[in-house]
Amino acid sequence: MRRVPEPFRIKMVETIKLGTREEREEALKRAGYNPFALKAEDVFIDLLTDSGTNAMSDNQWSAMMRGDESYAGSRSFYRLVESVQHFSGYKYVVPAHQGRGAEKLLFENIIKQKGDVVISNMHFDTTKAHVELAGGRAVNSVIELAYDTQTYGDFKGNFDLELLEKQILEYSPEHVSAILATITCNSAGGQPVSMANLRAVRKIADKYHLPFFFDAARFTENAYFIKEREEEFKDASILEIVRTMFALGDGFTMSAKKDGLVNMGGIAAVKDDEELYDKLRMSCVPNEGFPTYGGLSGRDMEALATGFEEAMSYDYLHYRISQVAYLGELLREAGVPIQYPTGGHAVFVDAKKLCPHIPFDEFPAQALCNEVYLEGGVRPVEVGSFLLGRDPDIGESLESPVEFMRLTIPRRVYTNDHMEYIANVVIDVAKRASTLKGFTFEKEPPVLRHFLAKLRPIE
Ligand SMILES: *Cc1c(COP(=O)(O)O)cnc(C)c1O
Repeated sequence: MRRVPEPFRIKMVETIKLGTREEREEALKRAGYNPFALKAEDVFIDLLTDSGTNAMSDNQWSAMMRGDESYAGSRSFYRLVESVQHFSGYKYVVPAHQGRGAEKLLFENIIKQKGDVVISNMHFDTTKAHVELAGGRAVNSVIELAYDTQTYGDFKGNFDLELLEKQILEYSPEHVSAILATITCNSAGGQPVSMANLRAVRKIADKYHLPFFFDAARFTENAYFIKEREEEFKDASILEIVRTMFALGDGFTMSAKKDGLVNMGGIAAVKDDEELYDKLRMSCVPNEGFPTYGGLSGRDMEALATGFEEAMSYDYLHYRISQVAYLGELLREAGVPIQYPTGGHAVFVDAKKLCPHIPFDEFPAQALCNEVYLEGGVRPVEVGSFLLGRDPDIGESLESPVEFMRLTIPRRVYTNDHMEYIANVVIDVAKRASTLKGFTFEKEPPVLRHFLAKLRPIE
């Protein structure tokens, strides 16, 4: 595979340090064998997440100097609103400090009755949490292929349309608060959703008079995949595709920490429903702040408005998606099993296949993450049974259908040489995967255990 060169040159550098294996052994032990608890300084290449880890451009840093820090009616707010209106065609925009802030505003206003459902291709964890906090239930209807890591699919994030309609009828349309398309589908490995699928979902929404929203964290990455893989859009610009996607919806929530190319920020937007917009603004005041800043400073809103423009660049997206695919290809060529094809923001290594000797409750993907850190100072993250936790009713450890080591690629931060280095580290560890040992709890927090748990190796 040809490497796509970085479409930027580097004007400022941040030193990172590899250190020695002994230092990493000490650091990992101190962290309770949980990479979340490592000091970032003890990490050489940080692939924990693509959220808020973006590098900003010279234009974004310049824009920050123009930030208007007025409490109400800031010029920077109006610039952000215009930028969102430009790519989405939506009339109403409410800023938030990050995606989950926007989710709270939306779901507490659209879930009318306890137990009403939101149906998504696949809910992201904070999205599910806010649906549930608002009294609702989160239901997923992604296609089966999303769970099959070895079979190629152009759009593995698509809704299973038959299942969607079945679910609407099962819960009955008056108890469905909304349909929610997560683009790209984060929890399925950053897999895209096709325009054809989104159009079909819109039809179903119309048939049952349901609102249709987007969870739009990676909306430009999704648009890139549509351009590459859907014949109808091969000559369309990213902006045209983005507008066509959003024209199908009634509103969106967005974590701007991904395709917004900033380090913090979120948006809730509504196409034309003024009543809903007023409700969002009212919820914004006690939660996020006055609705012309919503938890963001003026300079944040400037950087975000510029980030949206840059994220719409085909050259940027081509490099971005190709870099992830390049890392995936290097691993596949060496026989390392990954979710195939690679999605937008990460390579998911199948730890179940690499470490079949480690049972799910000794966390095979966590074992792999820890070894990759020790080997080369690369910090991946576990997406599997360690993350999934226990059944809240009976307290048993749940077995995840997938055990992934996620190598998440920050935007514009690492070069293709870094990708080669990462691949070499992972390949070395994969060669001796059968000798790795599992982990058990030293200390297990009752909720969201993966953030704060302490582990110890099983001898
Ligand atoms: C990151 C993310 C969120 C939550 O956004 P935060 O900015 O982390 O609060 C919601 N949905 C998806 C799909 C995401 O990737």
